[in-house]
Amino acid sequence: MNIVNFVEFPDRTSDETKKEKNKSSRNTQSSPGGGSWIWGIIGAVLFLLLLNSVIFPAVSQRRVEATDYGTFIATVERGEVKQVVIQENQIIYTTNDKMFSTGVVDDPGLVDRLLAASSPNDGGKIEFVQKVQNQRAPIAELLLWWILPALLFWLFYRSMARRFSHNGESGGGFGMGNVMSLGKSGAKVYADTDVKTRFSDVAGQDEAKASLQEMVNFLHDPKKYTALGAKLPKGALLVGPPGTGKTLIARAVAGEAGVPFFSMSGSEFVQMFVGMGAAKVRDLFSEAAKKAPCIVFIDEIDAIGKSREGSIGNNDEREQTLNQLLTEMDGFEGDKGVIILAATNRPDSLDKALLRPGRFDRRIQMELPDLEGRKAIIQVHLNHVRHEEIDLDVVARATAGSSGADLANIVNEAALRAVRTGKQAVTTADIEESVETVMAGEQRKNAVISPEEKRIIAYHEVGHAMVAAAQSNSAPVHKITIVPRTSGALGYTMQVDTGERFLYSREFLLNKLATLTGGRVAEELICHTCTTGASNDIEQATNLARSMVTRYGMSDNYGMMALENQGNAYLSGRSQMVCSDATAADVDKEVQRMIAEAKDKASRIIAEHMDKMYAVADYLLEKETITGEEFMTILNQK
Ligand code: ADP
Ligand code: ZN
Ligand code: MG
Repeated sequence: MNIVNFVEFPDRTSDETKKEKNKSSRNTQSSPGGGSWIWGIIGAVLFLLLLNSVIFPAVSQRRVEATDYGTFIATVERGEVKQVVIQENQIIYTTNDKMFSTGVVDDPGLVDRLLAASSPNDGGKIEFVQKVQNQRAPIAELLLWWILPALLFWLFYRSMARRFSHNGESGGGFGMGNVMSLGKSGAKVYADTDVKTRFSDVAGQDEAKASLQEMVNFLHDPKKYTALGAKLPKGALLVGPPGTGKTLIARAVAGEAGVPFFSMSGSEFVQMFVGMGAAKVRDLFSEAAKKAPCIVFIDEIDAIGKSREGSIGNNDEREQTLNQLLTEMDGFEGDKGVIILAATNRPDSLDKALLRPGRFDRRIQMELPDLEGRKAIIQVHLNHVRHEEIDLDVVARATAGSSGADLANIVNEAALRAVRTGKQAVTTADIEESVETVMAGEQRKNAVISPEEKRIIAYHEVGHAMVAAAQSNSAPVHKITIVPRTSGALGYTMQVDTGERFLYSREFLLNKLATLTGGRVAEELICHTCTTGASNDIEQATNLARSMVTRYGMSDNYGMMALENQGNAYLSGRSQMVCSDATAADVDKEVQRMIAEAKDKASRIIAEHMDKMYAVADYLLEKETITGEEFMTILNQK
């Protein structure tokens, strides 16, 4: 789907970041025990309070009043003393209601005197204890000085280790078989012995599946391969944009082969303490060797496998971990039946040593799904929800550029929507609405927008639609709406390509540029104003025009000269200008000129269709949302 236009508040983020946000919020699965260090500390405080109220008083006893030895002896003679404790450096004695202490005096007759006084004498009797080393009981001593500090230290250490280790996706998703704590390093390795995921759960991605099928066969019957002398690749690297099913397909390999699945996220290796990561790698591989044949999966391997060259300030821990990983992979004999899979969306940043033959020599590309792929993925996820006949084609067309994870989310949103509206099954309408929800946010039904603003928004949107429709190469309008969304969009025009496009011609892009300017042109020509609503259009138009000049070689002045290097191909990273400053300044002029030309074209189109503009906008203001067909009907009326 191409959302051509978001009328936006100027301070809203572009839809690119919105998508990212959606993704990240989806990815934050609550990590097991993520916040539990807080509970640990609360527990420790409660424990201290308990100690304070129950044990300490017993230990330190009541208030003790200091007196001199003479008073002590006098009190003993009077028969008022109930108990005497003779310690190394003081004597503590208790009368009916109070406790006193006095110094120790070299008085050999004291014991006799106490014994004498303890003979039943007006009901009084002295219990006395001689030579107590210390007034505290040994258990309390142990507790106070050894166990408590150890406990506190342990809690602190655990909470720190948690915080530093758990910042990535956790190893697997669903159906975790058993989680094992490995060896001395205490690494949490998800060793799933009964993986339910199959290749049939992964839709599309046929090339990846074919490539991995060989590994499945090998795990089924290693002898068949070793008898012939064939060595299978030890490892395969799954590469692709986020949400294309890398983690999913790795599990599916284990599921198909029916072998244990050891999985760990790259970030879990990198710990606060140097050496821990390497220990974890060792543990992981020694455990895997015991369970062979099996699969070891390292998710997000770029966390440890980042190229060592050119990094500012070296990270000892990461480097050690990486070295250990390389060593372990070399130490593995290919015929043992341990296959190492790793996933990353930043292949360009990986260390060359990881990619050399004998390690991750096989590279499996996971791409964003095409039209057929999207249909298949939607179907796979629809299998889990009750649904009516769904027009897969419509939905798949509207979701161009979406990843598998996006589509899974869309189907789930549709199911939630169906439940909310009290339906028995999911319909195509639910899915179409959830496509928009996922891409543009929920409808904001109670937003109060003044009639004047509504009018501007309507003309702005119709302006986009009119320019798009008037240019033959442009995709027809699918839908125009002026219902505001929670993302900040006040309205938008949705264009849906009829066919899947892999190449974009210069004409197509120029038309798109004109369409992007159409909103602002309508504001100016009809409402005689210009608003902040066009900010997102301006951003998109500028990016598009700039790319045409610097990367696609579509400008008259520079032809096929690359003026920009693209960063990461999968994560929309910043690109870098690779030309002189003078050229960069000239590129800015070129971009400006292209946008101005596009705007002129849009102005001509709108001026020509003024009466239709009024007709469509009136209709839109009345209905708030109109379909592409309704739009074309008005357009074709004589
Ligand atoms: P990655 O690891 O590439 O970022 P995941 O494997 O974690 O992506 O995919 C996230 C979710 O998206 C999966 O759990 C699955 O529900 C869905 N998904 C992604 N690709 C596919 C696909 N090809 N077929 C079916 N579902 C998919
Ligand atoms: Zn716009
Ligand atoms: Mg993943």
